[in-house]
Amino acid sequence: MTGDATADVLVVGAGLAGLHTATELARRGHDVLLAERRPTLTGAIRTTGIFVRKTLDDFPLPPECLGPPIRRVVLYPPGLRRPVDLVSDRDEYRVGDMGPLYLSAARAAADAGVRLALGVRYAGRRDDGCCLLEGRDGPVRMRARFLVGADGARSRVARDLGLDRNRHLIVGAEEVFAVPGGDGPPTFHCVLDPSLAPGYLAWVVNDGRHAHVGVAGYADRYPDGMRRALARFAGSAPGLPGGDRPTEVERRGGPIPVGGLLRRIGGPGGLLVGDAAGAVSPLTAGGLDPCLRLSQLAADVLDDALRAGVPDPLAGYDGAALRARFRGRLALRRGLAQVRTPAVAAAVFPLLRTPVGRAAARRVLFGDRSFPDG
Ligand SMILES: Cc1cc2nc3c(=O)[nH]c(=O)nc-3n(C[C@H](O)[C@H](O)[C@H](O)COP(=O)(O)OP(=O)(O)OC[C@H]3O[C@@H](n4cnc5c(N)ncnc54)[C@H](O)[C@@H]3O)c2cc1C
Repeated sequence: MTGDATADVLVVGAGLAGLHTATELARRGHDVLLAERRPTLTGAIRTTGIFVRKTLDDFPLPPECLGPPIRRVVLYPPGLRRPVDLVSDRDEYRVGDMGPLYLSAARAAADAGVRLALGVRYAGRRDDGCCLLEGRDGPVRMRARFLVGADGARSRVARDLGLDRNRHLIVGAEEVFAVPGGDGPPTFHCVLDPSLAPGYLAWVVNDGRHAHVGVAGYADRYPDGMRRALARFAGSAPGLPGGDRPTEVERRGGPIPVGGLLRRIGGPGGLLVGDAAGAVSPLTAGGLDPCLRLSQLAADVLDDALRAGVPDPLAGYDGAALRARFRGRLALRRGLAQVRTPAVAAAVFPLLRTPVGRAAARRVLFGDRSFPDG
C-alpha cells in the first residue's frame, strides 16, 4: 500500500473489536480497510482470553481455538487459607487459544472482503479528515467516510476524533505455562490480596492445557513494581501442578480501562469500539464479551449511516445512555478499589463465606448479564 487510498471505513486496530467490526461491515457490502501496527496477529497478545458463557452462546468462535470448559472457581483471601469453592452446573468459561483465534477471525474478515494491512500504523488525522498511515512501504494518505478507533485502551483515534478517552485504568501482567492435564478439574483461582493485586485480583486459570498466572491492579499502588509482584505470586500460586515448575510459553500484559463505557464514543467523523470505548466490565475487567457486542452495534450504526448519508449519522451511538448499564459494576469497582491492605482484605473476605456472599459471588461469576443488553 503506497500513495493515496480510499475506503468507506478505515478501522484502526485488529484486536477482536476491530476484526469483528470490519468483518460485519464488509459482509454488508462496504469497502473496509483494517490497519494494524503489529506485523503479525499472533505476536504481542495482551489478553488471558477467558470467554464467558454468554459469548460462547452468542458468537460462533471456532471450537478448536478454545480450551476445555471451566465450571469451578475458587476464591482465596491473603494467605490462601479457607478458600471459597464455587462450582456451576453449566460450562461457564473457556480460555481462547488467542493466536489461532485472531488468525481465524482475520480469515473470516478477508473472506468478507476486508483489506487487512498488517505492520501499518495509524499516525494521525488531518482537519480535512484525511488519515495518515505508515507502513514498510512508506506513508499512505487515506480518505475514508468514517474512521473507527479499535486501537485499544490508549486510543489515538479517540483523541483525533475529539471523543472521550480512558482515564481510569489498571494494568495487568501474566505468564502462561504449558501444564500436563489430569491434575484436577479445570479451575479458575482468584486471590483477593492487595499486596499482589491492588484494586483487583491475582489469578490462576488452569484448564489442564495451559495455566495463566497473572496479577492486575493500579500501577501506582505497587510498591516494588508489578513484575516483582507477579514473580512473588507465581512462586506460591494455587492451582499449579506440584513438582517441577512448568515451562513458560508466553508473557502477556497491558492496560485495562475500568472506568466504564465512555460517554462520547461517536461523532461525525467516526466512532470507538472495544477498549478504546471503555467497553470493559469495571468489576471483572472482562472486555472480550463487551467488545464483541459493542462492535456489533457499531457495525449496525455505521451501516445505516453509510446508506443514509445524513450529516451526523452517528449521533445515536451514545455511550452516555449505554453507560447506565454499568452503574452497579462501577459501584462494586469503587468498593474493590477501597480494599487497600491485606488486613482489610482478610477482614472483608469472610463475607464471601456467608450464604448471601456466596450467592452474590455466584451472580457475578456465573450470571447471565451481558453488555449492552443485560
Ligand atoms: C492482562 C490482561 C488480561 C485480560 N484477560 C481478559 C480475559 O481473560 N477475558 C476478558 O474478557 N477480557 C480480558 N482482558 C481485557 C480484554 O483483553 C480486552 O478488553 C480486549 O482484548 C479488547 O480488545 P480490543 O480489540 O478493543 O483491543 P486490543 O486487543 O488491545 O486491540 C487493539 C489493537 O490496536 C492496535 N493498535 C493500537 N494503536 C494502533 C495504531 N496507531 N495503528 C494501528 N494499530 C494500532 C494494537 O496493536 C492492537 O492490536 C484482559 C486484559 C489484559 C491486559
